[in-house]
Amino acid sequence: MHKKYQIQVPEGTREVLLHTCCAPCSSAIIEWMMQNDVHPTLYFCNPNIFPQKEYDIRKEECIRYAQSFGLTVVDADYDHLSWREQVRGLEDEPERGARCLMCFKFRLTKAAQYAHEHGFKILTTTLASSRWKSLDQVAEAGAYAVSLYPDVQFWTQNWRKGGLSDRRSAIIKEQCFYNQQYCGCEFSLRQTIAFRKARMQQAGKSDEASSSLKDLLDLRFDLE
Ligand code: SF4
Repeated sequence: MHKKYQIQVPEGTREVLLHTCCAPCSSAIIEWMMQNDVHPTLYFCNPNIFPQKEYDIRKEECIRYAQSFGLTVVDADYDHLSWREQVRGLEDEPERGARCLMCFKFRLTKAAQYAHEHGFKILTTTLASSRWKSLDQVAEAGAYAVSLYPDVQFWTQNWRKGGLSDRRSAIIKEQCFYNQQYCGCEFSLRQTIAFRKARMQQAGKSDEASSSLKDLLDLRFDLE
Protein backbone atom coordinates (compact mmCIF):
# COMPACT_ATOMS: atom_id res chain seq x y z
CA MET A 1 0.00 0.00 0.00
CA HIS A 2 1.38 3.36 -0.94
CA LYS A 3 1.14 6.12 1.66
CA LYS A 4 -0.50 8.66 -0.64
CA TYR A 5 -0.47 11.46 1.92
CA GLN A 6 3.32 11.72 1.65
CA ILE A 7 3.07 12.66 -2.01
CA GLN A 8 1.63 16.16 -2.33
CA VAL A 9 0.19 16.56 -5.82
CA PRO A 10 -0.24 20.17 -6.98
CA GLU A 11 -3.93 20.93 -7.35
CA GLY A 12 -5.48 20.01 -10.66
CA THR A 13 -2.41 18.13 -11.88
CA ARG A 14 -3.07 15.62 -14.66
CA GLU A 15 -0.28 16.17 -17.19
CA VAL A 16 3.29 16.48 -15.96
CA LEU A 17 6.65 16.89 -17.64
CA LEU A 18 8.88 14.49 -15.73
CA HIS A 19 12.57 15.20 -16.12
CA THR A 20 14.07 11.72 -15.95
CA CYS A 21 17.70 11.00 -15.10
CA CYS A 22 17.59 7.20 -15.53
CA ALA A 23 15.34 4.14 -15.36
CA PRO A 24 16.05 3.17 -11.72
CA CYS A 25 15.24 6.66 -10.39
CA SER A 26 12.14 6.92 -12.63
CA SER A 27 10.74 3.48 -11.94
CA ALA A 28 8.61 3.90 -8.81
CA ILE A 29 7.67 7.50 -9.65
CA ILE A 30 6.22 6.51 -13.02
CA GLU A 31 4.37 3.60 -11.48
CA TRP A 32 2.97 5.81 -8.71
CA MET A 33 1.85 8.49 -11.16
CA MET A 34 0.09 5.95 -13.38
CA GLN A 35 -1.73 4.55 -10.36
CA ASN A 36 -2.80 8.02 -9.23
CA ASP A 37 -4.21 9.67 -12.34
CA VAL A 38 -1.12 11.71 -13.10
CA HIS A 39 0.12 11.28 -16.66
CA PRO A 40 3.87 11.89 -17.14
CA THR A 41 5.68 12.74 -20.35
CA LEU A 42 9.32 11.88 -19.82
CA TYR A 43 12.04 14.35 -20.71
CA PHE A 44 15.43 12.64 -20.91
CA CYS A 45 17.92 15.48 -20.59
CA ASN A 46 21.23 14.26 -19.21
CA PRO A 47 24.18 15.69 -21.15
CA ASN A 48 26.22 15.30 -17.97
CA ILE A 49 26.62 11.56 -18.57
CA PHE A 50 29.99 10.45 -19.83
CA PRO A 51 31.09 8.65 -21.95
CA GLN A 52 28.39 8.56 -24.60
CA LYS A 53 28.13 4.76 -24.54
CA GLU A 54 27.09 5.01 -20.86
CA TYR A 55 24.61 7.72 -21.84
CA ASP A 56 23.14 5.52 -24.58
CA ILE A 57 22.73 2.54 -22.26
CA ARG A 58 20.99 4.62 -19.57
CA LYS A 59 18.72 6.24 -22.15
CA GLU A 60 17.72 2.92 -23.70
CA GLU A 61 16.91 1.47 -20.29
CA CYS A 62 14.71 4.47 -19.58
CA ILE A 63 12.89 4.14 -22.91
CA ARG A 64 12.38 0.40 -22.37
CA TYR A 65 10.73 0.98 -19.01
CA ALA A 66 8.61 3.95 -20.16
CA GLN A 67 7.36 2.06 -23.19
CA SER A 68 6.08 -0.73 -20.95
CA PHE A 69 3.56 1.91 -19.75
CA GLY A 70 2.99 3.32 -23.24
CA LEU A 71 4.58 6.64 -22.25
CA THR A 72 6.32 9.16 -24.48
CA VAL A 73 10.00 9.85 -23.93
CA VAL A 74 11.33 13.13 -25.29
CA ASP A 75 14.99 12.71 -26.16
CA ALA A 76 16.87 15.97 -25.50
CA ASP A 77 20.23 16.58 -27.13
CA TYR A 78 23.42 15.00 -25.83
CA ASP A 79 25.31 18.29 -25.70
CA HIS A 80 28.14 17.31 -23.38
CA LEU A 81 30.39 20.19 -24.45
CA SER A 82 27.82 22.77 -23.33
CA TRP A 83 27.45 20.93 -20.03
CA ARG A 84 31.24 21.00 -19.57
CA GLU A 85 31.19 24.76 -20.16
CA GLN A 86 28.52 25.13 -17.50
CA VAL A 87 30.57 23.36 -14.83
CA ARG A 88 33.93 24.86 -15.82
CA GLY A 89 36.00 25.60 -12.71
CA LEU A 90 33.98 23.15 -10.61
CA GLU A 91 35.63 19.95 -11.85
CA ASP A 92 37.22 19.09 -8.50
CA GLU A 93 34.11 19.68 -6.42
CA PRO A 94 32.88 16.66 -4.46
CA GLU A 95 29.53 15.07 -5.18
CA ARG A 96 26.68 17.13 -3.66
CA GLY A 97 28.90 20.20 -4.01
CA ALA A 98 28.69 23.27 -6.26
CA ARG A 99 29.19 21.31 -9.51
CA CYS A 100 26.12 19.20 -8.81
CA LEU A 101 23.93 22.25 -8.18
CA MET A 102 25.09 23.70 -11.49
CA CYS A 103 24.47 20.37 -13.19
CA PHE A 104 20.89 20.24 -11.88
CA LYS A 105 20.24 23.84 -12.94
CA PHE A 106 21.48 23.11 -16.45
CA ARG A 107 19.26 20.07 -16.94
CA LEU A 108 16.16 21.47 -15.23
CA THR A 109 16.37 24.77 -17.09
CA LYS A 110 16.27 22.85 -20.37
CA ALA A 111 13.31 20.87 -19.05
CA ALA A 112 11.50 24.06 -17.96
CA GLN A 113 12.09 25.56 -21.40
CA TYR A 114 10.61 22.47 -23.04
CA ALA A 115 7.62 22.60 -20.66
CA HIS A 116 7.08 26.27 -21.50
CA GLU A 117 7.26 25.65 -25.25
CA HIS A 118 4.95 22.61 -25.18
CA GLY A 119 2.22 23.71 -22.80
CA PHE A 120 3.17 21.77 -19.68
CA LYS A 121 2.21 23.64 -16.51
CA ILE A 122 3.90 21.26 -14.05
CA LEU A 123 7.52 20.07 -14.06
CA THR A 124 9.14 17.65 -11.67
CA THR A 125 12.28 15.49 -11.65
CA THR A 126 13.41 12.00 -10.76
CA LEU A 127 16.62 13.50 -9.36
CA ALA A 128 14.72 13.83 -6.07
CA SER A 129 14.42 10.06 -5.69
CA SER A 130 18.05 9.17 -5.12
CA ARG A 131 19.55 9.11 -1.64
CA TRP A 132 22.86 10.19 -3.20
CA LYS A 133 21.44 13.57 -4.25
CA SER A 134 20.82 16.66 -2.13
CA LEU A 135 17.07 17.36 -2.09
CA ASP A 136 17.81 20.99 -1.21
CA GLN A 137 19.95 21.33 -4.33
CA VAL A 138 17.27 19.73 -6.49
CA ALA A 139 14.64 22.10 -5.08
CA GLU A 140 16.90 25.12 -5.56
CA ALA A 141 17.66 24.14 -9.15
CA GLY A 142 13.97 23.54 -9.90
CA ALA A 143 13.00 26.93 -8.46
CA TYR A 144 15.73 28.57 -10.51
CA ALA A 145 14.60 26.85 -13.72
CA VAL A 146 10.95 27.90 -13.45
CA SER A 147 11.91 31.44 -12.46
CA LEU A 148 13.00 31.74 -16.10
CA TYR A 149 9.64 30.34 -17.34
CA PRO A 150 7.00 31.62 -14.90
CA ASP A 151 4.10 29.83 -16.62
CA VAL A 152 5.65 26.54 -15.41
CA GLN A 153 5.38 25.37 -11.79
CA PHE A 154 8.07 23.15 -10.26
CA TRP A 155 6.59 20.28 -8.26
CA THR A 156 9.01 19.96 -5.36
CA GLN A 157 8.65 16.46 -3.96
CA ASN A 158 10.71 14.04 -1.94
CA TRP A 159 10.14 11.00 -4.14
CA ARG A 160 11.67 8.69 -1.54
CA LYS A 161 8.50 9.01 0.56
CA GLY A 162 5.20 7.17 0.40
CA GLY A 163 6.81 3.73 0.10
CA LEU A 164 8.47 4.69 -3.18
CA SER A 165 11.97 4.00 -1.97
CA ASP A 166 11.15 0.35 -1.23
CA ARG A 167 9.16 0.03 -4.43
CA ARG A 168 12.09 1.44 -6.40
CA SER A 169 14.39 -1.27 -5.00
CA ALA A 170 11.86 -3.95 -5.88
CA ILE A 171 11.38 -2.71 -9.46
CA ILE A 172 15.14 -2.51 -10.02
CA LYS A 173 15.31 -6.24 -9.23
CA GLU A 174 12.20 -7.11 -11.24
CA GLN A 175 13.39 -5.24 -14.32
CA CYS A 176 17.08 -6.23 -14.05
CA PHE A 177 18.09 -2.67 -14.90
CA TYR A 178 21.63 -1.93 -16.04
CA ASN A 179 23.82 -1.47 -12.96
CA GLN A 180 24.95 2.18 -12.87
CA GLN A 181 28.12 2.41 -10.83
CA TYR A 182 28.69 6.15 -10.72
CA CYS A 183 26.58 9.29 -10.79
CA GLY A 184 27.16 10.14 -14.44
CA CYS A 185 29.86 12.68 -15.32
CA GLU A 186 33.56 12.00 -15.91
CA PHE A 187 34.41 13.60 -12.56
CA SER A 188 32.15 11.25 -10.65
CA LEU A 189 33.61 8.36 -12.65
CA ARG A 190 37.15 9.34 -11.60
CA GLN A 191 36.10 9.78 -7.99
CA THR A 192 34.40 6.38 -7.94
CA ILE A 193 37.46 4.68 -9.43
CA ALA A 194 39.75 6.34 -6.88
CA PHE A 195 37.44 5.36 -4.02
CA ARG A 196 37.16 1.74 -5.15
CA LYS A 197 40.92 1.42 -5.66
CA ALA A 198 41.64 2.83 -2.20
CA ARG A 199 39.14 0.47 -0.62
CA MET A 200 40.67 -2.54 -2.36
CA GLN A 201 44.16 -1.51 -1.32
CA GLN A 202 43.00 -1.16 2.26
CA ALA A 203 41.55 -4.65 2.07
CA GLY A 204 44.85 -5.91 0.65
CA LYS A 205 43.21 -7.01 -2.61
CA SER A 206 44.46 -6.54 -6.13
CA ASP A 207 42.53 -4.22 -8.50
CA GLU A 208 42.38 -7.18 -10.85
CA ALA A 209 40.09 -8.99 -8.42
CA SER A 210 37.23 -6.60 -9.07
CA SER A 211 35.29 -7.03 -12.28
CA SER A 212 33.11 -3.99 -11.48
CA LEU A 213 36.23 -1.86 -11.11
CA LYS A 214 37.50 -3.20 -14.42
CA ASP A 215 34.23 -2.09 -16.08
CA LEU A 216 34.76 1.41 -14.70
CA LEU A 217 38.38 1.50 -15.86
CA ASP A 218 37.25 0.51 -19.35
CA LEU A 219 34.90 3.49 -19.41
CA ARG A 220 37.66 5.77 -18.16
CA PHE A 221 39.73 5.04 -21.28
CA ASP A 222 37.16 7.03 -23.23
CA LEU A 223 38.42 10.08 -21.35
CA GLU A 224 41.91 9.78 -22.74
S1 SF4 B 1 28.38 14.05 -9.82
FE1 SF4 B 1 26.36 13.71 -10.79
S2 SF4 B 1 25.05 15.45 -10.21
FE2 SF4 B 1 27.20 15.97 -9.77
S3 SF4 B 1 27.92 17.06 -11.61
FE3 SF4 B 1 28.46 14.90 -11.90
S4 SF4 B 1 26.71 14.01 -12.99
FE4 SF4 B 1 26.01 16.00 -12.18
